[in-house]
Amino acid sequence: MSASVHERLVIIGAGPAGYTAAIYAARAMVNPLMLSGFEPGGQLMITTDVENYPGFAEPIQGPWLMEQMRLQAEHVGARIESEYVTALELRQRPFRIRCDSGRTLTADAIILATGAKAKWLDLPGEARFKGFGVSACATCDGFFFRGKTVIVVGGGNSAVEEALYLSNIAKEVVVVHRRDSFRAEKILCERLFARPNVTVRWNAVIDEILGHENPLGVTGARLRDARTGALTTIDADGVFVAIGHAPASELVAGQLALKPNGYVETKPGSTAASVEGVFAAGDVADDVFRQAVTAAGLGCMAALEAERWLALQAPARAAAE
Ligand code: NAP
Repeated sequence: MSASVHERLVIIGAGPAGYTAAIYAARAMVNPLMLSGFEPGGQLMITTDVENYPGFAEPIQGPWLMEQMRLQAEHVGARIESEYVTALELRQRPFRIRCDSGRTLTADAIILATGAKAKWLDLPGEARFKGFGVSACATCDGFFFRGKTVIVVGGGNSAVEEALYLSNIAKEVVVVHRRDSFRAEKILCERLFARPNVTVRWNAVIDEILGHENPLGVTGARLRDARTGALTTIDADGVFVAIGHAPASELVAGQLALKPNGYVETKPGSTAASVEGVFAAGDVADDVFRQAVTAAGLGCMAALEAERWLALQAPARAAAE
């Protein structure tokens, strides 16, 4: 294991929050180090058209936007390393950060921008067929369902976007939603309802994902009517689960105050977490808005707050040295 290196500010996570924090902190001459993990770019890497990130009259591609953010962060001097953080020790100062590579770092301040991960239904067949017909990412796996029938589960923006994307590839898309209306934005719903190869099974939940063993693959799903309990079976070659996201807050569980739903608790109007010197930005801390632009805004706030906090610590640190 290499000797630990000390940093003033380490940003963990490379989505819109992390990159924006890196841009602001680098321009404030804090010399931040970003640890970007194995999947830099976050959820926008598995998004196609982005129409609501301000500044672009035409739709842009999620991966392109993230590449621009990375280039901008590097351009202003942020250092970005593709280390995956496995443990954080926040009870000691400086904070200690352990990486998958075996490397250990220490840091005076940390910006946690680890985002959120797709939720799963956790029902029979799901784990068995993951990667063999069950997916949480249409842009990653949709290609395998050309001319086939797929189910999309959920009623939020993610589900409707996944269904729209899949309707361009698959022969038929069946959206299964547990209520009788979508929570997704109206503009997306209208687009979906206009697609001739999309049907919606309202008030329905999946009880079991069905498939065969040899070769391993999905053949359909057993649906339960949420009101009557009646069971039906539908044939399908794939099931895309799009029921929302859970915050990636495992690294700080038991060390930072979390909300009951697992999001990092921050002080009102601030990104400051419950341990001084730790700031949380983006989807790991935001259970309300969860947009790329709000994540970027929170990343900006976190960098400004971290910079001020570090400046306040400087005299004490100098006296101790
Ligand atoms: P979401 O808005 O939380 O929607 C999750 C959907 O899944 C809901 O319709 C929910 O049903 C359903 N659901 C949850 N648990 C379920 C279960 N166990 N079984 C069956 N259905 C279940 O999540 P999201 O769609 O991923 O969106 C997350 C955030 O990202 C939102 O703020 C969204 O606006 C944003 N987002 C924005 C865009 C965009 O702007 N283009 C794209 C994607 C996501 P109920 O409706 O009954 O609760």
